[in-house]
Amino acid sequence: MRAVTYVRNNTVEVHDKPVPEIAPDEVLLRVGGAGVCHSDISIIAGGDDSPLVGSTLGHEVAGYVHALGADVSGWEVGDGAIVSLILSCGRCRECLAGRDNQCEVVAPRGSLAPLSPGIGSPGGMADFLAVKAHHLDPIGDLDPVTAAPLADAALTPMHAINTVRNRMTGDATVVLIGLGGLGHMALQILAATTGARVIALDTDPNKLAFAREHGADLAIPSDGDAAARILSETGGVGADVVLDFVGVQPTVNLAVAVVRGGGAIRFVGLGGGTFEYRAGAGAGLPWGVNIERAYGGTRSDMREVVALAQAGKISVEVVRYSLDDAPQAFDDLHHGKIAGRAVLIP
Ligand SMILES: [Zn+2]
Ligand SMILES: [Zn+2]
Repeated sequence: MRAVTYVRNNTVEVHDKPVPEIAPDEVLLRVGGAGVCHSDISIIAGGDDSPLVGSTLGHEVAGYVHALGADVSGWEVGDGAIVSLILSCGRCRECLAGRDNQCEVVAPRGSLAPLSPGIGSPGGMADFLAVKAHHLDPIGDLDPVTAAPLADAALTPMHAINTVRNRMTGDATVVLIGLGGLGHMALQILAATTGARVIALDTDPNKLAFAREHGADLAIPSDGDAAARILSETGGVGADVVLDFVGVQPTVNLAVAVVRGGGAIRFVGLGGGTFEYRAGAGAGLPWGVNIERAYGGTRSDMREVVALAQAGKISVEVVRYSLDDAPQAFDDLHHGKIAGRAVLIP
């Protein structure tokens, strides 16, 4: 079968690999679509000696059940399914508490990222993927091409939003930074599930226009004037919630500059920015601010995004590529040419 493989620094190629054998508790999924994420760009920038060299990428995966292991029940050949972002154990303390995105077995302290398809386990940018049946959720009649990005591009913002949902009251202001794959879904999730006013920011005018069409109350350039503009728009107090899907230094600075006292910041983007916390009175982070370094989402978050997509309340803006054109898709994403999400179609 074809498999998009990380072959060396910043390089993917479509290689021929054997169709995986399935264990008794696994399903062989015929991949219908696999999203291309900025994380994939980061992964392949890991050099020629990364432990992931040689592996098949792809952590946003949906498709059809093609074959069932001997012990699998509850699935039929032909069923549509989406693969969990995080291949959680299902049995540890964190999993049992509903924090399976923090599974202590597959995301031990100090790990680079939790175990996912394409990140430590074979990914879904391939014709087939072997996956444990308990890591699948049904998608019903959803097209796997448009469903695949739900596994990260919708799941991750849904999780970040769910952790601050109590602050998203009808009189709240949410600042959404970055309107790429995750941000364009965050915008729709906010519009579909909260009454909050959304101020969206990006450096790309096309993405700002997109934001205005998809529910942003205000869409403004992410530049040196943004903080003053947001403070002005919020009567000088700042935003209840800041969602940073970029994470570069200017956006981290902006988040700190515009969050209101008692507000919340969710840092999601992995752009390498830092911020200084100073334990003392005076300028800096306002009192009462809650910060979380959000990662992925739970199985409950996954069910929510699938249900929202099935109800037509959110939809992924898909840019389609054949699996064979994966190198082009990676290049286009790297150069900021993707409006929405690139999806590889086997
Ligand atoms: Zn991702
Ligand atoms: Zn676990």
